[in-house]
Amino acid sequence: MVTTWPPNFPIFQEGVVQFAKDIELMSGGRLKVKVYAGGQLVPPLQAFEAVSQGTVQMGHGAAYYWAGKVPAAQFMSAVPFGMTAKGVNAWFYSGGGLELWRELYKPFNVVPFPAGNSGVQMGGWFNKKIESVEDLKGLKMRIPGLGGKVLAKAGGTPILLAGGEIYTALERGTIDATEWVGPFHDNRLGLYRAAKYYYYPGWHEPGTALELIVNGKAWAQLPEDLQKIVEVAARSINQWTLSKFEALNIKALRELKEEHHVKVLAFPPSVLKELKRLTQVALDEEAAKDASFKKVYEAYKQFQADHAAWNAISDDAYSKALQ
Ligand code: CA
Repeated sequence: MVTTWPPNFPIFQEGVVQFAKDIELMSGGRLKVKVYAGGQLVPPLQAFEAVSQGTVQMGHGAAYYWAGKVPAAQFMSAVPFGMTAKGVNAWFYSGGGLELWRELYKPFNVVPFPAGNSGVQMGGWFNKKIESVEDLKGLKMRIPGLGGKVLAKAGGTPILLAGGEIYTALERGTIDATEWVGPFHDNRLGLYRAAKYYYYPGWHEPGTALELIVNGKAWAQLPEDLQKIVEVAARSINQWTLSKFEALNIKALRELKEEHHVKVLAFPPSVLKELKRLTQVALDEEAAKDASFKKVYEAYKQFQADHAAWNAISDDAYSKALQ
């Protein structure tokens, strides 16, 4: 099994190592999984190809890494102004999302499973205040995927940088701003030493899903009970990962505020409203270019709208009641 994560990358790679141990234990040693971090066997962003070709049997990553090959895969990881982990999991497991995902990967001989979620990410680190959309103009920001496309529409310049390069780029001023993950990972990277303001919410990654991918032939060769063990172990890291993020972000946010005196600020409503409008434009453009993107987009949008109506009188209403 290969992953897209650095060795010892907390929560992400840690969850995969746990997943491998769970499988071995649950199968009484009949199925053993040897985990390689990104770059140890194949370069991180070639994990999908390696699983597809059968070079390895399994992989772990995030579906938006394969956007160049499968544009619609982005709906299976993160969509700006899309659903949070709760909605995304409901869509995957009980709303037809996973069936669409299987259909997307079938031509590549890859079987996907939800296997982790970061929860709502943070909006990112800035050295100037973002008070209107004008402040995004000319801004060089590390922000990947669809979020980057939206920033470009707002007049900014999205920059692609791997995790290991972010701190230095921000500190030296090669980039003006960056997003990374959330309080826990951002604190570990020391981003508070290179930027003054920490903005929320992560409109571009409201609940990034991680994935387990299995080679179709290897999957078909597994007896039914071992298939079930892999499936259940994937469900287990899906939950474990989200729980870990939630619990560790609480502590890290406190540390950032109290020990590092970071200014945690909300994006103004006018900025979020404009970014949401531009997201719509960007998604419509992508849908016009690719038929399967359009198909998945329609299904995702419908589920999100239906879920929003329920959410408004359940989670949202309850959160307001607590204020
Ligand atoms: Ca991110």
